[in-house]
Amino acid sequence: CGIVAYIGHQEAYPLLIKGLKRLEYRGYDSAGVALLNGDGLNIYKKKGKVSDLESEVGGRKLTATIGIGHTRWATHGEPNDVNAHPHYSNDRSLAIIHNGIIENYASIKKQLQQKGHVFRSDTDSEVLIHFIEDIQQETGQTLEEAVRLALQEVVGAYAIVVLSKEEPRQLIAARKGSPLVIGIGEDEYFFASDASPIIEYTKDVVYLDDYEMAVVKNNELSIKNLDSVQKVPYIHTLEMEL
Ligand code: GLU
Repeated sequence: CGIVAYIGHQEAYPLLIKGLKRLEYRGYDSAGVALLNGDGLNIYKKKGKVSDLESEVGGRKLTATIGIGHTRWATHGEPNDVNAHPHYSNDRSLAIIHNGIIENYASIKKQLQQKGHVFRSDTDSEVLIHFIEDIQQETGQTLEEAVRLALQEVVGAYAIVVLSKEEPRQLIAARKGSPLVIGIGEDEYFFASDASPIIEYTKDVVYLDDYEMAVVKNNELSIKNLDSVQKVPYIHTLEMEL
């Protein structure tokens, strides 16, 4: 139900936790984060409040300057630790956070299971990241292209952010029907369901439109629609009242 993601030079974990707390008003039943650093991709998730997630992380020092965070309002699969986001791909190299509903997840899941994908949760969201992984493996395309091809097959609503262990300077986001705002800072980018987690860091934001994908790679933002047509990002300046 709420999305926060960060790529830049600040410590991502405290920033994600603070952002998720700002999105608490949207309602949720579980929360989680995925952090990417030299040790790899680490996911922590927990049923309950953002504070329960913090207790789960406990005294661990999570150092990373790229990460994604999520508060879940369960639609497919009961609220529990396993169904909480982020979700992993089959080989655990990709992670996704997703708001919304993938309506045709069951048929995609069936095909992927026949190809050997093992699903750990009951969510529609996990299917999407396995699907992206499968397309990437089948086509040999970039992650960005695999995300685009997957989204062309998807029926439903989504705001997503994807990160990959293989691409430590990249975040990919997309939306259809669920809100997603991108904050542009100094050599850093924020993604969130609304501007409240972003405004203390930057006033410059881009509102992603339906059927658009945003890719931050090597510190550059590019926006394309699902037909690969490049868009010029329109940068709004947030007012102070938030
Ligand atoms: N449909 C997804 C799930 O049940 C995402 C729900 C949400 O928007 O939080 O996990």
